[in-house]
Amino acid sequence: MRKTRAVFVKDVQIGGGAPVAVQSMTKTDTTDVEGTVKQIEEMMRAGCEIVRVAVPDREAAIALKEIRRRVPDVPLVADIHFHYRFALMALDAGVDKLRLNPGNIGAHERVREVVRAAASQRVPIRIGVNGGSLEKDLLARYGTATPEAMVESALRHIQILEDLDFHDTIVSLKASDVRRTVAAYRLLAERVDYPLHLGVTEAGSAFAGSIKSAIGLGVLLHDGIGDTIRVSLAAEPHEEVRVGWEILKSLELRERGVTVVACPTCGRLDIDNFVEIVTEIERRLAHIKEPLHLSIMGCAVNGPGEAHDSDLGVTFGRGVGMIYKNGVPMRKVAGADIVEAFVREAEKLVAEGAYAKHDEPQLVQIT
Ligand code: SF4
Repeated sequence: MRKTRAVFVKDVQIGGGAPVAVQSMTKTDTTDVEGTVKQIEEMMRAGCEIVRVAVPDREAAIALKEIRRRVPDVPLVADIHFHYRFALMALDAGVDKLRLNPGNIGAHERVREVVRAAASQRVPIRIGVNGGSLEKDLLARYGTATPEAMVESALRHIQILEDLDFHDTIVSLKASDVRRTVAAYRLLAERVDYPLHLGVTEAGSAFAGSIKSAIGLGVLLHDGIGDTIRVSLAAEPHEEVRVGWEILKSLELRERGVTVVACPTCGRLDIDNFVEIVTEIERRLAHIKEPLHLSIMGCAVNGPGEAHDSDLGVTFGRGVGMIYKNGVPMRKVAGADIVEAFVREAEKLVAEGAYAKHDEPQLVQIT
């Protein structure tokens, strides 16, 4: 993993060797405190570790105080463009991080006021460079928002903070395509030791955007680049959080909740309604936070092997499911009763703490 300095967003450490944190952003009107708090709670249930809210106007900045009061334990980030006063109001409301580009909030005096206030509250600042809103002079010089232009923009903002002796900085460099995003982060990773917030911006629908994010973030994370991630989807924020976790779980960087190995099925399938069974088991176990490895296999070809590597497995044969616990065959259950029986066994395993027996010492578990 790339060596970075550690920055704290409330009690969540970003960088400095900490586990990669999953974050997301609310999509409600921030002045709708009720709706925003409800969405934040949903996000937290899905495993969101840092929540960002947009602060587009004065009313939203005012609403932050009440939101803060209602979710006191949530690491909260205020997303601010241009208006330094909203940044000061957000700090006054007690947010834990600002997302703002110091070069965009006007006169040097204003920047200094915000940075001083953030420093005195030990609130970090994320510089968020976006390929779609690069400075005009950089666009003129580079022709378009190239990775080099994005990095130069980031370095400018970083310099402003460093000149004010501020180093609690996190940086993101988001473009809406994977190749540019990856190239930009790689370039910046060579230049600075600040933690990086990864994301492919405006990635798209839940389906296409998840793939785009998984590839972009996956390539970087696999190289050891990235300290916190946000998956941007045209979907509910808790969906973004779920996808973020799946990306980290796939790379074995973090552990959380149920991981299901399910076969794709083929002509050997020995049970009806296999897809419904898998979907229903996943749905019924979505509340589990502990890392639990499950395998659901359609026939005996690969079933026992996968069951051996799982905490709990089921392999079908002639419409009947054989349940395995920690790789050992336990009991047979009729296909119609398998969802109920399997869910009960999984919940029992968690209650007994008899899970995660597989050998993966590098994994980090959160509860
Ligand atoms: S486990 Fe059996 S049913 Fe499933 S894909 Fe493999 S061979 Fe086909």
